[in-house]
Amino acid sequence: MSIATRSASATVEFRSVVKEFPGHRALDGVDLTLRPGEFVALLGPSGCGKTTALRVLAGLEDATSGSITIDGADVSGLPANKRDIGMVFQSYSLFPHLTVRSNVEFGLRMRKVPKDERRTRALAALDMVGLGVHAERYAHQLSGGQQQRVALARALVTEPRVLLLDEPLSALDARVRVQLRDEIRRIQIDLGITTLFVTHDQEEALAVADRVAVMRAGTIEQIGAPEELYTRARTSFVAEFVGLSNRLDGVIETPGFVTVEGVSLPLIDEAAPLGNVSAYVRPEDVVFSSEGISAEVVSSSFLGSFRRTTVRLASGALVRIQHGATAPAAVGDRLFLSLTGAPVAVKAVDAS
Ligand code: ATP
Repeated sequence: MSIATRSASATVEFRSVVKEFPGHRALDGVDLTLRPGEFVALLGPSGCGKTTALRVLAGLEDATSGSITIDGADVSGLPANKRDIGMVFQSYSLFPHLTVRSNVEFGLRMRKVPKDERRTRALAALDMVGLGVHAERYAHQLSGGQQQRVALARALVTEPRVLLLDEPLSALDARVRVQLRDEIRRIQIDLGITTLFVTHDQEEALAVADRVAVMRAGTIEQIGAPEELYTRARTSFVAEFVGLSNRLDGVIETPGFVTVEGVSLPLIDEAAPLGNVSAYVRPEDVVFSSEGISAEVVSSSFLGSFRRTTVRLASGALVRIQHGATAPAAVGDRLFLSLTGAPVAVKAVDAS
């Protein structure tokens, strides 16, 4: 017996969700739709409201206003244990006095599932996360990564309609974090379960999500597929938060275009007003050239499959470039650069 996929089709909708704590508005009108089977990452800096959004969906906090629906039904009045949602937190929160299997069986016991079925389903869930062999161990006998796998099995064993993951990888070391993140994604795709994943780590969000929603001060600033967010960041906040960017002085004199280091680049936001701006140019959109913008190499790091080099332009601006690991770049080298012409995000220089 394996974990069923009846949950595959849940649609989740936040409509104008506001959450006020005394003296603080943590959610300021969140609109977000998770499509059936979609993996959405909520990404943003500390305090922007990610965890609050997840807790309101889970029923652990009440929204001040707005509504949340699952498959069209408003769940606002439902207590957490009636929402049919599985949750994994940053801390593994397993019961230390119970075996791994009993931890996973817990939710089924609460639902009065008969003993034999409980056991079968718990073992199937543990097999799914590769821990069937450790079913009779106690939580403290497992590594952090293994404990988080148990927490995932425990969240999925009840076959919830929606899976919520609140920074589930933050407590793990870098290698385990990447392994588990890929495994979570594999399992999520296998089950087709609609999933909301909270993280402040942009690489993590880009690596696993179908779409990433970037949050800022209680609202969603932009939502899109990873490639779209990276290449079409609509605001300077998104350009700065998602991936590396070079911030260069520019001026918009013609609608839709910004001039940077004498080169005209298209704007992502074609409606950006005329005037002086900071333009966000991605490292891979600055390339070595036989002529163009003159620069001097300030530093260069070999990073395995590529090299990251910092150069100083005649204007004094420092620019990071990413290029092939074999291309030479010694400190003090003078060279020329050109810009690929990819569209850029901008921020008016007098804007806060
Ligand atoms: P982090 O990445 O640090 O966990 P977050 O984006 O998940 O941040 P939230 O935990 O959702 O942020 O908190 C959003 C804001 O609401 C913060 O300013 C926080 O201090 C505030 N907040 C959260 N819970 C409460 C509470 N119970 N009472 C008062 N304020 C709260």
